[in-house]
Amino acid sequence: MSKILHRTIGASLPTAVAGEGIYITDDRGRSYIDGSGGAAVSCLGHNHPEVLEAMKVQMGRISYAHTSFFTTDVAEQLAEQLIDLAPSGLDYVYLVSGGSEAMEAALKMARQYFVEIGQAERRHIIARRQSYHGNTIGALATGGNAWRRAQFKPILPETYHVSPCYAYRDMQPGETAEAYAERLATELEAKIVELGAEKVMAFVAEPVVGATLGAVGPVADYFKRVRQICDNHGILLILDEVMCGMGRTGTIFALEQEGIVPDLVTIAKGLGGGFQPIGAVLLSKEIYRAFKEGSGLFQHGHTYIGHPIAAAAASKVVEILKRPETIANISRMGERLDAGLNAALGQSPYVGDIRGRGLFRGVEIVADKDTKQPFDPAYKIHSKIKKEAMQRGLMCYPMGGTIDGVHGDHVLLAPPYIIQSEQIDMIVERLAAAIDSAVAGGYSS
Ligand code: PLP
Repeated sequence: MSKILHRTIGASLPTAVAGEGIYITDDRGRSYIDGSGGAAVSCLGHNHPEVLEAMKVQMGRISYAHTSFFTTDVAEQLAEQLIDLAPSGLDYVYLVSGGSEAMEAALKMARQYFVEIGQAERRHIIARRQSYHGNTIGALATGGNAWRRAQFKPILPETYHVSPCYAYRDMQPGETAEAYAERLATELEAKIVELGAEKVMAFVAEPVVGATLGAVGPVADYFKRVRQICDNHGILLILDEVMCGMGRTGTIFALEQEGIVPDLVTIAKGLGGGFQPIGAVLLSKEIYRAFKEGSGLFQHGHTYIGHPIAAAAASKVVEILKRPETIANISRMGERLDAGLNAALGQSPYVGDIRGRGLFRGVEIVADKDTKQPFDPAYKIHSKIKKEAMQRGLMCYPMGGTIDGVHGDHVLLAPPYIIQSEQIDMIVERLAAAIDSAVAGGYSS
């Protein structure tokens, strides 16, 4: 009997014993294509020799030095690399150990920034429904997924949520993308006015929504309008690229495709590629300057921030991401995955939408394609698809509650950037078979 409190108690999990390239092998010798990089983490696959070597070299130097006593060359180097790659306007880096920590730090930075510049009344956070920003209290409060928040709601700080940009379900018939973006912008502005613009601190969003919506990108101009509104009201824009960042959507930062620069960006999963737990917040020089010229510190910190081995792994991951062939493969394989999904599932009566960017793709599962009616949540079609896929040697990332935290299902795919054409084709083939089999397992709507 396991002594671990697993995510689901009593679930029979295979034991992973080895990883190589895009595959994970279990103790019974079965191998699985990591079609979701776990949860969009393993961006360079498993056991990448260059990353392992970089970690070994760093271990031979120093494994840990507390950041209140020392900095390290490797952490400094990582920060330089990130700022080099980031759009102009993001100038400094705060290193943490994961996505939720990155979000907590970003929220606290926003709050402290306003305290430093004499606008201490700014405290409200506005985010979007159907978003996920992490599981710690502040990050969970910011996220807009009703199911994840429900039982913890009484202990969450108060936050406010507006509609996501979810064209498949929320764009009205006859409405243009431009008009839809404008409608959402109007809703955001109304919420700001309702709360009192001078009391709002930050608007938080994932550029391409991952876990809770399944690779849903914004319509054109949405983020441009959001940026304008934030600027007009002196509100900070925090973009959460924990899942969609670090090359996942075909550009190093997903926000590059939106033509805007936020005040704060969080990154994590693809930064460490699963080789080490690491995350980061990138911040503007205005925020940095406010801290520097104000109290002279950011009142935060964790024991493992700037961890040298995590920094060494991330530094090598970032170096590999920067190589032109890496981004080229994301685009090429992303197009192949999109085409493959459309060919195999486009006509399926149970697939309502196929979406995403780069190697970040989502498939929305429906009971009725015409009406977009979801499956009865009690049927847990997403869990069935996950199980069927695992039985076929495919890891994918299905989730329920796509529409409102309860109804709706999708499957997220986020394979490693080193993937090759025939492996993409195997993902499509296995996923299509898993969906067919899950649906065939006795469902009647
Ligand atoms: N933000 C987003 C967009 C995420 O997808 C996640 C995790 O899935 C997080 C934050 C939280 O990251 P972590 O699980 O590393 O704490």
